[in-house]
Amino acid sequence: MFKRILGNVTPLTRKGTLPNFYSLFVTRRFLSKKFKPIAFYSIAPLTENRVLTLRNVLEKDLSSLGVVGRIYIAPEQGVGGINCQMAVPVDKVDSVKEFFDGFKNDFGTIEYTQGMQDTSLPNFDKLRVLVKKNLVSIRQHVTTQDLAVQPHHLTPEDWHKQLSQQKDEVFLLDMRNQYEYNVGHFDHAIKMDVDTFREGIHLLDQLVADKSKQKDIFMYCTGGIRCSVAGSYLRKKGYENVKMLKGGINAYGHYIKESTNTSLFKGKNFTFDGRRGEAITNHVLTQCYHCGSSCDHITNCVNTRCHLLFVQCEACKSKMKHTCSNHCHNVLEGKEEYQLDYDYHRQVAKAW
Ligand SMILES: [Zn+2]
Ligand SMILES: [Zn+2]
Repeated sequence: MFKRILGNVTPLTRKGTLPNFYSLFVTRRFLSKKFKPIAFYSIAPLTENRVLTLRNVLEKDLSSLGVVGRIYIAPEQGVGGINCQMAVPVDKVDSVKEFFDGFKNDFGTIEYTQGMQDTSLPNFDKLRVLVKKNLVSIRQHVTTQDLAVQPHHLTPEDWHKQLSQQKDEVFLLDMRNQYEYNVGHFDHAIKMDVDTFREGIHLLDQLVADKSKQKDIFMYCTGGIRCSVAGSYLRKKGYENVKMLKGGINAYGHYIKESTNTSLFKGKNFTFDGRRGEAITNHVLTQCYHCGSSCDHITNCVNTRCHLLFVQCEACKSKMKHTCSNHCHNVLEGKEEYQLDYDYHRQVAKAW
């Protein structure tokens, strides 16, 4: 049996949380520069000592290149390697790539995914290099060694081709959280009705229970790392044809931009940073949780004990003072004690 381990990463809904003054702060600090959002991950067997060395080197050298972002590194006893989301000054992109070329022994050949647009506001306020037990939060005990058998990594082009052929017959899993799915997803994708990856991987067993070991199982996430873990988990259980989108929706967005094909992904690619998403198509798939108007803008509830990510229109955002509920609003005003343990469905009661 898998040993249950404590999650070392807080639920993803609480990630990318930003204080209210974020824009103002960032605007003043970074006004004149242009940044490129860049991400990559590598599942790699790093020793604990190496992880500590890397943390210090990355922190020092990337800071001196003006990079901001969030970098996780983890040792091989868990889901080990590196997961890197950065905003890099445009004139430093080549230097940053050269810098990472020096770590081939640790991370292999790095395949980057880039944001769709450069931005004058970086998507992070500073650089954080954090040591984790696992690169992604997972309930089961998985070592880096366990992830050696990977799902088949399909290029966006092959992914598009195979999905187009299978049409609505496709068995396609969206390995992200429900609020990410809600604002944008691939046609015919199955929604994991969960708030964290920890819960999602648990659901996998149920979803594939009636499938033959030869069944084509397609899966995708934002940048690929969640599928590298979940897909490998299924491969280990004997499912032979597990296929993941290489580079995730990030890479697919770029492919579609360059291609004449119609996007099979509709809506917004949710991102865990100050942007909270990039439009792949102009479809708006969600409604404001308060008034029901068509909207795909994600608000991060400013009650620091809540920090819920949810869809809210500008008018309601202003009316509710950037909170998700009357309760959080009252907590902020000092009228109530915060009482709700985090529960997305209980907390956001739809008024419409
Ligand atoms: Zn509204
Ligand atoms: Zn709230």
